[in-house]
Amino acid sequence: MTPLTPREQLCAYGRRAVELGLVIGTSGNLSAREGDLVAVTPSGVALDRLTPEMCPVVDVEGHLVEGDLQPSSETPMHLAIYASTDARAVVHTHSVFGTVVATTMTELPPVHYNALLLGGVVKVAEYATYGTPELAANVRAALAGKQAALLANHGGVTIGASLEQAFEATRLLEWLCEVYVRGLSVGRPAVLTEEQLAAVVERALNPPSFPRRA
Ligand SMILES: [Zn+2]
Repeated sequence: MTPLTPREQLCAYGRRAVELGLVIGTSGNLSAREGDLVAVTPSGVALDRLTPEMCPVVDVEGHLVEGDLQPSSETPMHLAIYASTDARAVVHTHSVFGTVVATTMTELPPVHYNALLLGGVVKVAEYATYGTPELAANVRAALAGKQAALLANHGGVTIGASLEQAFEATRLLEWLCEVYVRGLSVGRPAVLTEEQLAAVVERALNPPSFPRRA
């Protein structure tokens, strides 16, 4: 089986995002970078209706290279992220629990050790109008050294070395937000300390070994 092209991947993960309820209607956008080119989802098309040809390809400076449709209005944010990180893919959604946290808090505290997979505390980037350079700059700052950020009163964004990784990071971000929000409705979620988080990293670096029985 030949590997999917970046545009085919956008279609596959776009469908998945809709199936999992991470996006509704035409909200949410994905992109994948290969060299100096970025394939991105188009503006105004629901993510489960995409075909590879519908997905525009832009260069890292934002010139349209291929495609008849306009790139997503959030493309400037995607390009700003590629300019400042090693990311090969970006996923942006308005998922429910991510947006709840992004409209009520300034950060998502690490209440579960899997938050480390996103870089620990997830910061909420300051509000700015969608599609603007201001929003792109705020998101870039919130993402520094991390795999995820929330966008105030808007949604979330994750990055990865592949679209699969960025997509899984979005699922994890939504799960962490859901756990925290549901936790708040039951009591006061305990936040893991620096020490507890460091111990998790230590544990991950030294997994238990299971020698084969002689
Ligand atoms: Zn958005």
